[in-house]
Amino acid sequence: MSALAENLRAVRARVDAAARAAGRDPAAVGLLAVSKTWPADDVRALAALGQRDFGENRAQELTGKAAELADVDLRWHFVGQVQRNKAAAVARLGAVVHSLDRAALVGVLGRVGEETGRPVEVYLQADLGGPEGELAARGGARPDELPALADAVAGQPGLRLLGLMAVAPRGEDPAAAFARLAELSARLRADHPEAGGISAGMSGDLEAAVAAGSTLVRVGTAIFGARPLPSPSDAAHQPRESHQSHGPLGSE
Ligand SMILES: *Cc1c(COP(=O)(O)O)cnc(C)c1O
Repeated sequence: MSALAENLRAVRARVDAAARAAGRDPAAVGLLAVSKTWPADDVRALAALGQRDFGENRAQELTGKAAELADVDLRWHFVGQVQRNKAAAVARLGAVVHSLDRAALVGVLGRVGEETGRPVEVYLQADLGGPEGELAARGGARPDELPALADAVAGQPGLRLLGLMAVAPRGEDPAAAFARLAELSARLRADHPEAGGISAGMSGDLEAAVAAGSTLVRVGTAIFGARPLPSPSDAAHQPRESHQSHGPLGSE
């Protein structure tokens, strides 16, 4: 079995085990493979293994990979911070947007959904708090901003509200952070019963996220291998020439 196949199998097994441990149906937890920094060929190999959902966090990288892989039946997800001037391009690709965190994006994304006749699916990104500095870097709306944002999205015919997305703040027990997310999700569902999705959990904390009710985990490192250390502005813009193996897995 290839390293990618083995990693994918192992991650799916982790998700399934976490779901069963929480008394949940493993089929109720989706797996989004976050392919940022990895070449289109890796996505193609995973697609051949049955993986259909892939995530990127930069509009340019998403656009490029989607074009390269136009012949494969994939569902793209955008998990990075949405820049207003690139939001429409992301939405036109049919990508699910996980990071709607401010009202200014509602109209931009909604117009694409109206134009194409295919509503843009969105999660509201929630800021779960945490050590200073973490918030600005990761994005997300404050919990008290979520109800108005949800109403704005629900009132926009070009958008479909799927639920909430969040990243657990570093330096905090992820179980505590994801418990807050579950509470926010329950509150959201009281007003918007259709928006029951929870996009949460990454390579290092997916068990805690699934235990707290995640319906979609976003996993990069545990499937593809360790990314090059982020150098603030350009690391993710420079895809590697090649990489021989996908393991062993490291953390960021
Ligand atoms: C990169 C990324 C992931 C995947 O993180 P890993 O730790 O590599 O699994 C998930 N969500 C978001 C928003 C990301 O940017």
